[in-house]
Amino acid sequence: MSGIIQLLPDHIANQIAAGEVIQRPASVVKELMENAIDAGAGKVQVVIKDAGKTLIQVTDDGRGMYPVDAVRCFDRHATSKIKTADDLYALTTKGFRGEALASIAAIAHVTLRTRFLEEDTGVEIEMEGSQLKKNESCICPIGTTFEIKNLFFNVPARRNFLKSDSIEWNHIIDEFERIALAHPQIHFDLIHNNSEYYSLYPGVLRKRIVDILGKNSADKLVPIEEQTEIVTIYGFVGKPEFAKKSRGEQFLFVNDRFFKDGYFNHAIGRAFEGLLQQKHFPSYFLYFTVNPQRIDVNVHPTKTEIKFEEDRSIYAILVSSIRQALGKYNIAPTLDFEQETGFDLPQSYKNVPPAEPVIQVDPHFNPFKTYSSNGGQNVKEKAFTPAIQAKGFGDKRIEQADWQAFYQIEDESVSAQSALIPDEHANEIIVEDILLHPPYFFVSTADELFIVHSKRAFIRVAYDQLMSQFLHAPIASQVLLFPYEYACTKQESREWESNEMLLSRLGFSATVREELIVLNAVPTLLHDDGIADCISLILEKIAYQSIDKGDVAHYIILSIAISESRKKGTSSFKEEAKDLFDRLMTSKEFSMTPDGKTILVKHTLESLTQHF
Ligand code: ADP
Ligand code: MG
Repeated sequence: MSGIIQLLPDHIANQIAAGEVIQRPASVVKELMENAIDAGAGKVQVVIKDAGKTLIQVTDDGRGMYPVDAVRCFDRHATSKIKTADDLYALTTKGFRGEALASIAAIAHVTLRTRFLEEDTGVEIEMEGSQLKKNESCICPIGTTFEIKNLFFNVPARRNFLKSDSIEWNHIIDEFERIALAHPQIHFDLIHNNSEYYSLYPGVLRKRIVDILGKNSADKLVPIEEQTEIVTIYGFVGKPEFAKKSRGEQFLFVNDRFFKDGYFNHAIGRAFEGLLQQKHFPSYFLYFTVNPQRIDVNVHPTKTEIKFEEDRSIYAILVSSIRQALGKYNIAPTLDFEQETGFDLPQSYKNVPPAEPVIQVDPHFNPFKTYSSNGGQNVKEKAFTPAIQAKGFGDKRIEQADWQAFYQIEDESVSAQSALIPDEHANEIIVEDILLHPPYFFVSTADELFIVHSKRAFIRVAYDQLMSQFLHAPIASQVLLFPYEYACTKQESREWESNEMLLSRLGFSATVREELIVLNAVPTLLHDDGIADCISLILEKIAYQSIDKGDVAHYIILSIAISESRKKGTSSFKEEAKDLFDRLMTSKEFSMTPDGKTILVKHTLESLTQHF
């Protein structure tokens, strides 16, 4: 018996593969443009007729191909971009599957003219339904031209399935824009039915965005820049007031490759929370650079879905960097221009709509008058810095130091932060005396009395410190002399494992068994006695409470801070309490713990008088 299983002939296999890679003319445009970029092109010209149904032609001035490669490139799995499986994890090119040209040649008439940069003549190849029809040398410039005609000529179902010209053309524009936005340093032309649609000259990213969106878009963009160990984020977000009713202007790139990602899109949405009108979507053009080993682009044949190893950390960094940028440009409520890690608003503030910062000018304010901070006591001489005197309010170029100096004089005239924090007085406070009264301590200054919950103050300070470390580098970790064994349930160990990357960035290293977590290292800040407590707090959150993915880092850091506070949070010396208080006062959110509990109560002489 000879059996009934046969290997499919190549042209049929190619046709099947084509079904995945080439769905419509726009897919051809994408694949050919990507090949041109991989070939090192400085200029790429795309010529389209009838939305690609009649002609798709892509010409580049890249390195071209040797005559033998010009034939071989149409073979299935023919690629010059990877050689070993390991190369898959260090991709720097757009293509690597060696499928595109084989697929296109299986379902269209293809003409290729190419000349390798070291050759004097080029070669012209014609393919029809995977068959080689012509292979002749020719005169042509260095580089490559692909002409695709009669797309889907032998797949009538596909051809009939194509949408109207205007819809297919819009798909082509989308692909073209995604690639053009990813490579502002390359010249791209797009011509449709003999008329020029785009002619994009090389330049900086902002110029490329403006060339695509239109001239008046320049003022609508807010730059984003954040460098951390896991990811560098660069790009622009649109100011909230220009948000659109469609998602058209949302672009994410990783290592210059466009991708779609609902999770990161959610992060961006969160950063804009409270700033957008209903049913409006923010514009964004964000470029991630990550180590290619830390992503998997091979999850989808058209490579628009990408898996990130450290997506949770990136989520947090994304929210933080956008919030900061909006804050810097006076769009979101944060005044602290230098604060590196505006990670997140604490839970309790989450649903409070942020107020737009207003800088009010007091018409009676005299910059040359000396000011006393309180009814004549504690007289400190302060005035406007020369920059503020010269440029006045609302000038964004005024330096950070100038504003700081200004806010110290007149912090009450600025209401932005007070919209979030009930106690707006975050500046330097001169402590006169401290009284310990566990769990509280009292701090008196010349005219104010603070009653501080010691443990909660500790939590806030430890949380801020860890969060700021976490956003910029892995948290320092100490190896345990004796591994610590924590007995847990199966569900708990599963959850621990699924958050492994994040936990290791937070300083935990563990071997996980079915019902046991064996900790080999913990964050340096964490005291030996606090380990069990901390692990159970973390597991309680990640295993049993349905918390938002983006909040996992927040909860873990909070758990570390809380478990440490149990040991170290009660000050037994005045110096300790003073130190804690001073550090607390440098926090942007000194009056609340990250989980929304009150840290301190303040009385002024006036408010005390009311009691008598
Ligand atoms: P992949 O891009 O995944 O390698 P393709 O089928 O798109 O697979 O292309 C196959 C090969 O043909 C590429 O690896 C490259 O060597 C060559 N090639 C394709 N297009 C060009 C081009 N425009 N210039 C130079 N070489 C090209
Ligand atoms: Mg390719």
